[in-house]
Amino acid sequence: MPDKIGTENAVSRNPEAIVVGRGPAALTAAIALAEAGVATILAGKRPPRTDNRTTALLASSITALENLGVWDLCADKAAPLITMRLVDATGRLFRAPEVRFDAHEIDLDAFGYNIENPVLIDALEQRAGGLANLALIDDEVVAVEPDGDKTDVELKSGERLAARLVVGADGRNSMCRDAAGIELSNRPYKQVALTVCLTHTRPHHDTSTEFHTASGPFTLVPLPGNRSSLVWVLRPGDADAVAELGDEDLALEIEAMAHSILGKMTVEPGRALFPLNVQTARRFGARRIALVGEAAHVVPPIGAQGLNLGLRDAVTIAELAAEAKDDSRDIGGADVLAAYEKARRGDVMSRGMVIDMANRTLLSDFLPLQGLRGIGLYALDKIGPLRRAVMREGIAPRFGRPKLMRDEVV
Ligand SMILES: Cc1cc2nc3c(=O)[nH]c(=O)nc-3n(C[C@H](O)[C@H](O)[C@H](O)COP(=O)(O)OP(=O)(O)OC[C@H]3O[C@@H](n4cnc5c(N)ncnc54)[C@H](O)[C@@H]3O)c2cc1C
Repeated sequence: MPDKIGTENAVSRNPEAIVVGRGPAALTAAIALAEAGVATILAGKRPPRTDNRTTALLASSITALENLGVWDLCADKAAPLITMRLVDATGRLFRAPEVRFDAHEIDLDAFGYNIENPVLIDALEQRAGGLANLALIDDEVVAVEPDGDKTDVELKSGERLAARLVVGADGRNSMCRDAAGIELSNRPYKQVALTVCLTHTRPHHDTSTEFHTASGPFTLVPLPGNRSSLVWVLRPGDADAVAELGDEDLALEIEAMAHSILGKMTVEPGRALFPLNVQTARRFGARRIALVGEAAHVVPPIGAQGLNLGLRDAVTIAELAAEAKDDSRDIGGADVLAAYEKARRGDVMSRGMVIDMANRTLLSDFLPLQGLRGIGLYALDKIGPLRRAVMREGIAPRFGRPKLMRDEVV
């Protein structure tokens, strides 16, 4: 029997919006909709496997989570990101200089915070469970069928729901995307990310360090105390070999890759491999279905953009739906979906392009391209206004930011 949190009230009988999914994008969309006064059901299956990843949430995402009453529930378990270092560890002829970004340079106390995914999800679940305008159903969605002025959603239990707006936050293999008839462009990379959490003997000083290697970035991101998370991008065969090492050998390998900056490493239980790809839906909404998070776009874990984009999707569709409701317009109407597409396409495409370019220039054996990369990083290091502009834009786009993300609070 699926568990249903929330009373048998007007929401569970007659929702205005249904959010499909149970990840961070789905929970945020559901909370933002409910908080904005839209009667919402969240229908999603809690994933069976614990996600051992961490997420570097940038300042504008923290602002949104603050405004939604989520951040207070988990802030004490997150580590601030005050400094970010990019270090060329390629050993190539053209080596880029080290570039250091400091949040104080753009008048922020921190660029954002790094948090373990299960901790973030627990806080989102806790907040979602306490909202009168939101009912949570822990069940799999087996069918999504647009039908004129509503979209039907069928659960594995046999229950059928319907609403004017469906938010598809059901991840990279989204059923909602198929139901909306939206095609996908997908480009696999010949790279795999190994993730693991670490305890170390030296402090990280709230600094994340990204070593650029010829197979991709090796990034250490602070966690509270003398702990960090690692995202190590490798060629597929190497990733398998490294992932199979025993804890002690893996710890030594990681310490060597990190040039011992954090001292002796201890590998914590739980490691995972993620094949990398870029995946973008051709449209972000159609037939009363709006796609958010990885249902709409997947980017490689370079520059901590993936979920930050997903959270911007989530609050944007919530704000547009609430505006439509306030104006007595159809919250799943074509004009709402068109406004959503317009608000999100540029942000998603431009960040996808920058990540792709950064990755290609790192992997390339083509000397002029390596030289160009070095010059770019040299300019970032030496030209203050350029560096500050890149830092500000890295956190969130200057224009078209959703209301819930304005005025960073960190
Ligand atoms: C190694 C790595 C490191 C990363 N680091 C960062 C970072 O530092 N910063 C950052 O911003 N991003 C980062 N990302 C990206 C981030 O992890 C993803 O963007 C995020 O997890 C996607 O969340 P989501 O809610 O869109 O999708 P998911 O987390 O995949 O959630 C989808 C949900 O839908 C549910 N679902 C699917 N199908 C159905 C169905 N039929 N019925 C019901 N429910 C269903 C699933 O159970 C799941 O709960 C990283 C990614 C990787 C791989």
